[in-house]
Amino acid sequence: MSLNNLTVLGAGVLGSQIAFQAAFHGVKVVSYDINEQALANAKKRYDALVGDYKKDLSASDEQIAQAFDNLTLSSDLSEAVKNADIIIEAVPENLELKKQVWADVGQLAPAHTIFTTNTSTLLPSAFNEASGDKSRFLALHFANRIWVQNIVEVMGTADTDPEVVKATEQFARQMGMEPIVLHKEQAGYIINSLLVPFLHAASHLLANDVASAKDIDKVWRMASGSPKGPFEAMDTVGLRTVHTIHSAKAEATGDPLTAHFVEILKSEYLDKGKTGRESRSGFYEYDDNGKVILD
Ligand code: NAD
Repeated sequence: MSLNNLTVLGAGVLGSQIAFQAAFHGVKVVSYDINEQALANAKKRYDALVGDYKKDLSASDEQIAQAFDNLTLSSDLSEAVKNADIIIEAVPENLELKKQVWADVGQLAPAHTIFTTNTSTLLPSAFNEASGDKSRFLALHFANRIWVQNIVEVMGTADTDPEVVKATEQFARQMGMEPIVLHKEQAGYIINSLLVPFLHAASHLLANDVASAKDIDKVWRMASGSPKGPFEAMDTVGLRTVHTIHSAKAEATGDPLTAHFVEILKSEYLDKGKTGRESRSGFYEYDDNGKVILD
């Protein structure tokens, strides 16, 4: 199975990174988002990524120009998917939205297209049916800042054709990633099975006013030797996604500290345009190179 044309659905924090990484590695990519405004935001993300690739990977002007040659932006779904060999969906983390998107895409994409989702917290088996073909559907889960943290978890469901898993693993290598194939579905994959309880513990400490975000991070960094604390990690994930995940948790559990953390995120950060590292402002401020300013 040779996969040459990729379509990425959603050009937000992760979708833009995925599309640019693949284009940089020579894949023909269509980056789809819902309207012209969303595409204008995507263009800004692509421009910002140029700086990251130059700084972190010493990318040359020629390599950057080639990446842009490989990248097309579109807000027309049927045009965007009509030649796709593989689709990576990176739309907001909302089950009903993902079902709707896959129902539309399943109708429009060619019969051979591999369907993948970058969902962080949902199981692919919760919405693979919407696509119309569960055998071609699996999860391909990236970690933020994919050009340097270039691990990707490949996770099929009980219905995924093993050949599709293999082809997706190979494609991931083609786009410069290190794929890890999971043996079975696991909510949160490996990374979030470890990370989510950690971030929840941190959010409870903050919402319960035990210490400031920066002090909680400092304890973690200095005591464990880790380069980043939990709040800096949240800035990197993006505070919109952190808000969505904690809102769902607050609703599901009724836990008042989680609900309070959601309020803090909204009133202190998101309402002020502080969406985390990508806006250079979140729990921390970041310099023009995206480097955290620790005080
Ligand atoms: P984001 O909010 O930054 O971007 C989502 C994008 O999807 C926006 O540009 C939005 O306009 C677009 N969109 C909305 N409705 C759409 C539709 N119907 N069709 C196509 N595009 C649509 O979100 P994100 O952080 O990039 O997360 C996207 C997905 O990736 C989520 O499932 C999330 O769980 C997952 N993910 C995120 C991270 C992270 O660190 N941010 C890491 C791994 C996986």
